[in-house]
Amino acid sequence: MSVQTYSENLNVLTQTQLVIKEALAKLGFGSEMYELLKEPLRVLTVRIPIRMDDGTVKVFTGYRAQHNDAVGPTKGGIRFHPEVTEDEVKALAIWMSLKCGIAGLPYGGGKGGIICEPREMSFRELERLSRGYVRAISQLVGPTKDIPAPDVYTNSQYMAWMMDEYSRIREYDSPGFITGKPLVLGGSLGRDSATARGVTIAIEEAAKAKGMALAGSRVVVQGFGNAGGYLAKFMHDKGALVVGISDAYGGLHDPNGLDIDYLLDRRDSFGTVSKLFKNTITNQDILTLDCDILVPAAIENQITSQNAAAIKAKIIVEAANGPTTLQATRMLTDRGVLLIPDIIANAGGVIVSYFEWVQNNQGLYWTEQEVDRRLQEIMEQSFASVYETAKLRKIDMRLAAYMVGVRRMAEACQLRGWV
Ligand code: NAD
Repeated sequence: MSVQTYSENLNVLTQTQLVIKEALAKLGFGSEMYELLKEPLRVLTVRIPIRMDDGTVKVFTGYRAQHNDAVGPTKGGIRFHPEVTEDEVKALAIWMSLKCGIAGLPYGGGKGGIICEPREMSFRELERLSRGYVRAISQLVGPTKDIPAPDVYTNSQYMAWMMDEYSRIREYDSPGFITGKPLVLGGSLGRDSATARGVTIAIEEAAKAKGMALAGSRVVVQGFGNAGGYLAKFMHDKGALVVGISDAYGGLHDPNGLDIDYLLDRRDSFGTVSKLFKNTITNQDILTLDCDILVPAAIENQITSQNAAAIKAKIIVEAANGPTTLQATRMLTDRGVLLIPDIIANAGGVIVSYFEWVQNNQGLYWTEQEVDRRLQEIMEQSFASVYETAKLRKIDMRLAAYMVGVRRMAEACQLRGWV
């Protein structure tokens, strides 16, 4: 389809900037708009001293990035991971802006991260770190400024600690400060599984577009945490055969279909299950297994020019953020693989986070059916607008998604007189 090639040595932020530039140019915006949107408006770096259980003090580095607030307050998750970098957080914040743009949510993108190894920290140390992070960023965030949520290695318990800390600082109950909370603290029904529900809808739409039946299809999922775990379960319940799953330590493969309920029962709170088995395969092997649908649901840069040619799936749906490099996107698209990019596929999380925030603000809570109905409607519309743009412009789905995602934010910047 395209002759353009991309270096594989570019980090996620540089790759994102290249596509934003191309999308803005195709939409007819000038270089000033690109200068504004290529980086977040604000990035705060914080150092958080935490008393560890053994009495020593450890100082952690964290970030909070706010990409653009022309459309509304910024919104995005907080990641606890040893490989968090400032550039990664910036790219994740930009992707959040694009997701909100595609889904039509009244937000810009934000993201946070702390460089830490939560798998080696105690429950109480993680609580102190969560609270310390909120104290460090409290001036920058709030229910009408920037609204955090869970991401890799954080969950509803971390959100509860963070909401409690913020409410104490502000001296009033602030459920709308953060989403992904437990139900009793103002969480939304359906939020836990929302990302995977959205990915499931994206898979259904992609299968329709390819004329492929979901029942009986063979699915591989890399990552078995919140996104990957629920997704494997939903695929299994829809009659697909989940032939491979993996976590940070390795993968499991059965061409006749894995017993997903059994594996979910044995998974730990960090989404690890493979350690319990012998004869595991590697995370690289999992990506090239014989299957119809491949769902990367773990971390960035997993599908690259090194393995793209060996991938056998006909549909790739990015539950993770940034799992496929630009060069691999081009190689796969040229081969006719339908790749549904992260900023459409995993938007279910932010869509239901938005519903949670709306419910918190109005103090009126919805049924799960109401949440699911609205999620389905937004996901189908998002898919259709990006798919149509890709067809009409003869471009890959990623560039099409960036075009749909960036347009409203760019227009809002113009109308505010920023550019
Ligand atoms: P999680 O912490 O619940 O699970 C992460 C999973 O990835 C675990 O199974 C872990 O073992 C695995 N993993 C970690 N490092 C790995 C590695 N190096 N190789 C292979 N597997 C590895 O996280 P999650 O919330 O499921 O997020 C997964 C992806 O989905 C991330 O890219 C995240 O940004 C994206 N996402 C999540 C949400 C959400 O609501 N949870 C929303 C949108 C996007």
